[in-house]
Amino acid sequence: MAAAMESVGTRELAGKRAVVTGGSRGIGAAIVRRLLDAGAEVLTTARSKTGTVPEGAAFVEADVRTRAGAEAIAGAAGEALGGVDILVHNAGGARPFPSALAIPDEEWQDQLDLNYLASVRLDSLLVPGMRERRSGAVVHISSAAVPTSAPPFLHYTAAKAALENYSRGLALEVAPFGVRVNAVSPGRTATPGGEATRERWASINEGPGQDDTAPPLGREGRPEDIADAVLFLVSDRASWLTGRNLTVDGGEFPVG
Ligand code: NDP
Repeated sequence: MAAAMESVGTRELAGKRAVVTGGSRGIGAAIVRRLLDAGAEVLTTARSKTGTVPEGAAFVEADVRTRAGAEAIAGAAGEALGGVDILVHNAGGARPFPSALAIPDEEWQDQLDLNYLASVRLDSLLVPGMRERRSGAVVHISSAAVPTSAPPFLHYTAAKAALENYSRGLALEVAPFGVRVNAVSPGRTATPGGEATRERWASINEGPGQDDTAPPLGREGRPEDIADAVLFLVSDRASWLTGRNLTVDGGEFPVG
């Protein structure tokens, strides 16, 4: 088995309670597995429960795009965990269009809800408890595609750019209370959602904007590559690290 797939083998998160959104597959499921391996209690979420939700995690069905979904997650966290020390906003995704000017209003709203406002809403429900306890770690999953502003998914990169800006501001606000907030920006990572996005992009866009060249490190990302960065950021090893965005992309995201 490849090194990145193996358990990290330490229990550095023993006693910690974690919520990870979108943990039923892909990057989210890898994050859940890493946190469980490190000894945390984990509640994860998706719109529906599938067989790929990691064993050992509590689960709640919720759509993160709505306030009601955020409230359902916060309620379930209270019941299952009693409080939250670690919050990872991972649910998200992109839906490319042939032109930035052809992206319908409802798709803009959907992307803002999914990739930006979902985090704002859930933070507003769970970060106050961290602030009161004067301890906590939040990670927002953004995207290494943000600097490309690629027109086929400009609504996605714009929403993730807003998320990065918000993440930094929240970090400044809660730092005096011992709560750390960081972002992680994955490059091209092999997941069901990532593959679906790239297939749709390839089918609608034959012009500039998509580059299939491998990143300098020679391969696409594995979900565990991203999960390891998240594990580090929520651990005490990152106790002097807040307001930053860690790009994990094999050296360079292909620029469109
Ligand atoms: P996947 O589509 O493979 O998995 C997404 C997870 O989020 C699933 O568990 C899914 O479950 C859940 N989810 C999606 N929409 C919602 C919703 N509205 N409410 C609740 N849960 C939802 O995605 P990835 O693992 O590829 O991506 C994870 C994160 O990484 C995303 O934020 C993505 O933008 C980011 N990213 C990924 C890259 C890649 O190449 N894979 C590159 C850059 C960033 P369900 O559908 O059942 O709700």
